[in-house]
Amino acid sequence: MRIIETVAELQAQSLAWRLAREQVGFVPTMGALHAGHISLVTAARAANRRVIASVFVNPTQFNDAADLDSYPRDFDGDARMLRDAGVDAVFHPGVAEMYPAGGPATRVVPGAAATGFEGADRPGHFEGVATVVARLFNAALPDRAYFGQKDAQQLAVIRALTRDLGFPIEIVGCPTVREADGLAMSSRNGRLDVAQREHALALVRALGTAQREFAAGARDPLAFGRNLEAALAGAPAVKLDYAGIVNPETFAVPAIVGPGDLAVVAAQVGAVRLIDNAAIGATDLIKYAAIESPRLVLLTQPAPPQGVMTWNA
Ligand code: AMP
Repeated sequence: MRIIETVAELQAQSLAWRLAREQVGFVPTMGALHAGHISLVTAARAANRRVIASVFVNPTQFNDAADLDSYPRDFDGDARMLRDAGVDAVFHPGVAEMYPAGGPATRVVPGAAATGFEGADRPGHFEGVATVVARLFNAALPDRAYFGQKDAQQLAVIRALTRDLGFPIEIVGCPTVREADGLAMSSRNGRLDVAQREHALALVRALGTAQREFAAGARDPLAFGRNLEAALAGAPAVKLDYAGIVNPETFAVPAIVGPGDLAVVAAQVGAVRLIDNAAIGATDLIKYAAIESPRLVLLTQPAPPQGVMTWNA
């Protein structure tokens, strides 16, 4: 596995592969790798002859300096995991290589998908993400790029960016990898203590409950939002940032919840901010649902009034 630190070398390597008719898959990460990241590498390997991963903790997407400082870093461990997973090249640039002007002089401003939820809670975050992803795409020159569904709004922003700026790259979204008890894997989980780790399960429980409510016929987005909020408000040591139902492409709240929509949650557990989401029409998280769901009756749509079909009776 090659370790590459400059944009020029990465471009030369990727072009050499593509001229040899070897397709290139690209997996951007911020390091502190876990099985979720490796699942993206596995998906990239299955569809491409060559795989490039990047490890770069992008300062411009952190709106909180303390969060940037405490972000876990272990490049040697990451490189071992990437080598074992069959990555051909890892791109590990310094900040000056990524931002030669001494700061990102030219910035990519994402569209409407970036305004609510994470975008509202973390001002500037998606502008930082869009800018670094555009820079990384131009460095790695891949056929396909792989992103986790775990960061669903980021995926929506990157799909829109790729379409709007015309990058000739296929964006592949990959399912969220979870711990055995349902907690979505995250580089931040290691900063939870034992009690917080337990409290953090409130997120997946709330999502599982929402899936169960959808399966039982609930369709009102505001009621889902209220119930998600209530489920998380009841959890000790969990401070809710937001919870709701969104369209996965636009991140707008739908008028009526459909099977393709997403339930999204974000909360602070101690000093750690966690996000998670679930396809509302899926059933994969119901097994983690809260045991009781007393509001289910309120969510379920009323039965149609009797007698409205009498015209064809
Ligand atoms: P990060 O290093 O946190 O920026 O994440 C790099 C990529 O890994 C992003 O596309 C994330 O969405 C993805 N990712 C992070 N956690 C998971 C997970 N638990 N399952 C699947 N993909 C993930």
